[in-house]
Amino acid sequence: MCGIVGYVGPKSTVEVLLGGLKRLEYRGYDSAGVSVINGSGTLETRKRSGKLSVLVDDIEQNPLGVAHIGIGHTRWATHGAPTDGNAHPHLGGAHKKLSLIHNGIIENFAELKSELLEAGVTFTSETDTEVAAHLIAAEYDKTGDLISAFRRVVLRLHGAFTILVMHEDEPDVVLAARRNSPLVVGLGVGENFLGSDVAAFVEHTKRAISVGQDEIVILRSDRVELEDFAGNKVTHPEFQVDWDASAASKGGWSSFMAKEIADQPQAVGDTLMGRVASDGTVHLQELAPLGNAIHSIDRIIMVACGTAAYASEVGKYAIEAWARIPVSVELSHEFRYRDPILTSNTLVVAVSQSGETMDTLMATRYAKEAGAMVLSICNTQGATLAREADAVLYTHAGPEVAVASTKAFTAQITSIYLLALHLANTRSAHSKSELQEIGRELLKLPAQISEVLAGLDPIRELARSYKDAKTVLFLGRNVGFPIALEGALKLKELAYIHSEGFAAGELKHGPIALIEEGQPVIVIVPSVNDPDSLHAKVVSNIQEVLARGAKVIAIAEEGDKAVAQVTDQVCYVPAVHRMLAPILTVIPLQVFAMELSAAKGLDVDQPRNLAKSVTVE
Ligand code: GLU
Repeated sequence: MCGIVGYVGPKSTVEVLLGGLKRLEYRGYDSAGVSVINGSGTLETRKRSGKLSVLVDDIEQNPLGVAHIGIGHTRWATHGAPTDGNAHPHLGGAHKKLSLIHNGIIENFAELKSELLEAGVTFTSETDTEVAAHLIAAEYDKTGDLISAFRRVVLRLHGAFTILVMHEDEPDVVLAARRNSPLVVGLGVGENFLGSDVAAFVEHTKRAISVGQDEIVILRSDRVELEDFAGNKVTHPEFQVDWDASAASKGGWSSFMAKEIADQPQAVGDTLMGRVASDGTVHLQELAPLGNAIHSIDRIIMVACGTAAYASEVGKYAIEAWARIPVSVELSHEFRYRDPILTSNTLVVAVSQSGETMDTLMATRYAKEAGAMVLSICNTQGATLAREADAVLYTHAGPEVAVASTKAFTAQITSIYLLALHLANTRSAHSKSELQEIGRELLKLPAQISEVLAGLDPIRELARSYKDAKTVLFLGRNVGFPIALEGALKLKELAYIHSEGFAAGELKHGPIALIEEGQPVIVIVPSVNDPDSLHAKVVSNIQEVLARGAKVIAIAEEGDKAVAQVTDQVCYVPAVHRMLAPILTVIPLQVFAMELSAAKGLDVDQPRNLAKSVTVE
């Protein structure tokens, strides 16, 4: 996980680094640190455990020197507690002239550490990272050639890493290497940047290059060179970042999460833009790289983790209903290590907001090697998943900074609806006009989300009244089931309250034993016009838990009189096509979790122990 930033150029380096880290802090917030080479050519390092603000205060009280080169890191600890000593950068060499930051896990660090200990090196941290600093410093001391020393050492490292290095005796250059962890270059005029993602430098430049797997970057103020680990020059096309710097700021909201919830009409609207004609026809140009193979898909496996897996679960209902292709949803980390059966007619759809989720990346590589087609759905341009897949369908949610996903979730579901309709157009299960009608319904969603957002005060109030709840249960059926799971996940992540989502039909098979007097149960109620009478079944489920003392909050369609008769705690959302309801019903649940977290005085944007982009397995 962790956020990495590097800079060489005329600006105040400390400001550039701290600004970049602020935008990357969602990636890890156990500690933060920077190194710069100041005007007198001395390496200065400052690092502090805790959130970035602790480091910022420290630097404000005792400023670092004016510098034009530096590196910075926010940590999500994997090896060693979140202490000052384990914070990055780590220094190497007898005179501590080399500074290094790392994202990932060096899997063979124990072996390398024994070798260094035998050679008499003293370690100052418990991290896996520190070995790399000492090894590179030792190689450099032998040869005086930083680039070849760096290359030789990264070849010895196993696992996942983005590593940035600078050395006091080479004050014009930052070196970077990447294997399995993310790294992007930002190209400026007389200045250049490195970042875990474009958010690190988007306020300075929109020109970027994605660094490939097993590549090294040599970054100077006037030029950027890339080579592979064998030292051969490589080039990659430049791309234009379409994120606006202001989109990655709070803009007056109390938290990023509050802003991102409110961004959802736009996120869904932008994701639909250009993909649905006004008559409702869906066409995805992005799937062209799959060619005619799209006609022979006989199975779809969606691989994802966390919230993205629940978006995929919603998508499964839509793809199966509209395109009539069998779909299974698998957690990437389970899929990857269980020898799944794949053929060239299998389409693997990998869903990840960042496009860097290591588990999903590994699942994707496995699927490609096994001969399956891979489509990725992600939100970040130039992400590894986007580059490695056969085709990519971007969600256009804009930068999502809060750790708990909201707008990326609804944008992912929207993209999967589009995928389902595109695939349905290549099959004959439904008439063109039926599919167009759904396409037109999709276009109404942004306005309907705005309607939901305008009526959430009652749910906020309710959330505050549940501040002391010990456990909350969520029930749903059909497309409401993954929303129950997502509602429960949000509450765990944000309010640290034990919560579980169940398929309402499963209630009698076990979970109903949990119901006792006063137990809060949140129920996602299907449309009153549900053709399978699921509405009536869920209303019966509500009665069953009420009879055992539960307190029920229902998320129901406007005009649902049956629900109003059984509970007075109802949050209404506009009536929509039954398959599209999740985009609306999830919003009160997002707000419920956020409000409850705030009422408990917790950090809504940066919940404990988590980081946004999970770049380790
Ligand atoms: N494994 C390293 C550590 O625990 C790096 C973790 C990270 O990516 O933040 O310090």
